[in-house]
This record gives sequence, structure tokens and C-alpha cells, in this order.
Amino acid sequence: MLRIYNTVSRKVESFKPTGDTVKIYTCGPTVYSEAHIGNLTAYIYWDLLVRALKADDYKVRRVLNLTDVGHLVSDADDGQDKLEKGAEREGKTVWEIAEKYIDKFKRDYHALELTEPEIWARATDYIDEDIRAVDSMTKNGFTYETADGIYYDTSKFERYADFARLDLEGLKAGARVGFSDEKRNVSDFAVWKFIHEGEKHEMRWDYLGRPGYPGWHLECATIIHKELGEPIDIHTGGIDHIPIHHTNEIAECYAAYGHDLSKYWMHCNFITIDGEKISKSLGNVYSLSDLAERGFSAMDYKMWVLSGHYQGTRNFTFESLEAAKTRRLAWRNRIAECYQKDTNNSGAFEKILEAINNNLNSAEAYAIIDNSDLSLGDWQKVDELFGLKLIVDSPKISEETYALILEREKARNEKDFARADEIRDELAKRRITVKDSINGPVWQYL
Ligand SMILES: [Zn+2]
Repeated sequence: MLRIYNTVSRKVESFKPTGDTVKIYTCGPTVYSEAHIGNLTAYIYWDLLVRALKADDYKVRRVLNLTDVGHLVSDADDGQDKLEKGAEREGKTVWEIAEKYIDKFKRDYHALELTEPEIWARATDYIDEDIRAVDSMTKNGFTYETADGIYYDTSKFERYADFARLDLEGLKAGARVGFSDEKRNVSDFAVWKFIHEGEKHEMRWDYLGRPGYPGWHLECATIIHKELGEPIDIHTGGIDHIPIHHTNEIAECYAAYGHDLSKYWMHCNFITIDGEKISKSLGNVYSLSDLAERGFSAMDYKMWVLSGHYQGTRNFTFESLEAAKTRRLAWRNRIAECYQKDTNNSGAFEKILEAINNNLNSAEAYAIIDNSDLSLGDWQKVDELFGLKLIVDSPKISEETYALILEREKARNEKDFARADEIRDELAKRRITVKDSINGPVWQYL
């Protein structure tokens, strides 16, 4: 039975789905630049969630959205649209930018062996639904018009501050001096933005007799309404989404449709790199291709991500990535061994799944894998649960080579280093390298 931390109650709860199929929505990327490894961690954690549900025999229907309009540089309603920014940077149209980075994102997604969502939802495919939602919010008395667009009056939604436990009075006091636009409350936000004469915004739709585009938060509420039907079971995102983006999604869903958006909300934490926030100015923005250039595969990175808990802050270093890579090699070696000797089903997988069912405790599950004797059947289930391509990547070796590997280990244990080196050279002739690590000796084909 799966237990998960629910942001709504701020505690770990038993998961109980509403219907036969678990409905999940994952806030996806804004497709205006290449995803860095920090962006990708969320999708790795939520993939584990989906795989855990499937291991528990649930059916899953998941939507992952692609934001190709309306996400401004600032999460508040000012600054440039990120897609426009990308287009300017690369001398392309916003549509070309969206295509390019959707492609790149999906390539990373597939390289990481992440479970395909049932629906990839592109924000610009839901503009009609957005317009219907704004109409409905207006009809229900939740919006007002300013020169800038249609705004949500957050004072009309009594529970607005509850989800993020916002201190609205504090927010008001902290609002910048001279806060003098037409917003009625400091937390009000645009559900629809108008495009003014002369303003550059390529993506535009007619609404209320003038050009405009949807506010960022709206797409998630309307896509969920159209594709899944609210309330859904689990809504996932990053902890940075809690105070504004998810708070506003909840408010919009209530105002447009009169329902709660989701029963459970799960949020993952950030990673830092060498103890620093990921930022261009620090030169630590790595993509999967940057890791590949340094000899690390997408699977090595996934192995690293899942070695820690989704709610913890994680610090990425190349040393820790190297350790994750070695650990994965050690696991692959153990699979190769399974083909050489008979192993019975050890029942270890039940313990591994139990750790995952305990609020996705992948770190504990990894420790169980390290310390248990797994049969080939167990490894198959481990591979399905984590999607680490362990079996397909496990080296195929002959009986004779395997005997040599064992003999080398024996020689090392007996401190017969001359014989161990001899065997290492013999293995090298067979294109196999061996190195010793905290996971024991790991070997691989050159
Ligand atoms: Zn969202």
C-alpha cells in the first residue's frame, strides 16, 4: 500500500484513489531553452511514482503539459513571455522555438527511460478551453478587468491562502513601494493578458474583441478539466510551484468549475551543484549532453537522482555521479552473474517495493538492493520499478570469463596480487576492464 507525503495535509498519508484509474497531472517544462539536469530531476521522481503505482497494480492515466505560451520571466505578471525571449535570443519564431525545445525535452525524457504520459498536453492546444474557463470565472464573479488583462480577485476565494499557508498580510506589507497598478489585492493574478498596440507578442488569440493570451497558471487547470476531470488523484510539481503557480491553479479551478483540483499534491525539492544554486553566471548549467561529453549516460544520472529522496535537497557533484555510475555497473555485473549461476527468488523485491511504497524512499530501496541477494526475477522487477536499463545493459560473458573474474576476486581476497594482476591482463585481452570500488570489483567491456 502506497503512502505519500501530501502537501495539503503536510503529512504522509495512505494513498486512496478515487476511481479505478489513478489520474495524475505533472507540471511540465516551459519550452524556451534546453532543460538542465536540475529541471529533469522532477520527471525522474514522478516516473518512479508512476512505476510504483503500476507495481502496486494500479492503472494510471497521466498528463504532462508543455508550456509554450504565457509563462512570463517573472512568476508575477510582468516581464517578457519566456517563449518570446527564446525567439529573440535565437532569431527564430516562437513556434519554431517551441518545436525545437519540445523535441529536445522529449529526447531527454526518452533517454532517461521515463514512462510516457498518456497525454502530452501542449498549452496552445487548449486556448478554447482557457477562454471558456475565463468566461466562467467572470460569470461566477471572480474576475475584474484592468488595462493589462483579466485578473483573478483572490479575495473572492476564501481558501486562497490555505494551500501554501500564505501570509497575505505579510505579502501586502512586503509589496513594493508605489504598488499602484490596478490590482485589487497583492496576490491577484492575470488569467488573461491583453496585447497592446505595438506590443510584440507573436502568439495571440482574439478574446473580448482584442488580441491576448492566457496567463500561465490557467493552462494546468483547463488541461486537467478537459483531459482528466477534477478532482484528480495526484498533482505533482516542484516546491517552487507551491506559493504561486499551484495556489493559483487551485483558485482558478474552483472559480471556473466549482471543484477542488486534486486530492493529493506532491512536491519535489531542488538540487544544487557543488553546493551552489544552478545558474548561468556560475557556469554550472549542465544538460544531459554535457554529462555525455564527460562520459556519463542518462542512466548514470538517473541512478544518481534516485539514490536520494525526492523531498530532500540534493547536492550534485561529479564525484557523486561517478559513484552512482559505479554502483550501476556493480548492479549490472550482478545481473550478468545471475546468468552464470542458479539463484532462487529471494523475496527481496517485496522489501524493495515496500521501501518505495513508503513515500518513494528510493535511497532505502537502493540500500536493500546493495545488501540483498537478488534473483534474475527480482532484477527484472527492479528494472521495471526504476527504469534503469540494468538488464539490457548487463554485459554478456562466457562461463570461462566469469570463472576468471571469480578467480581474480579470490586471488585478491587471498592477497595473491601477482595472480590477480595476471588475470586482469588476461581479462583485458578479452576487452574487459576491472576496477575496485566501494561496491566491490566492477568490470565492464571496453
Ligand atoms: Zn502547473
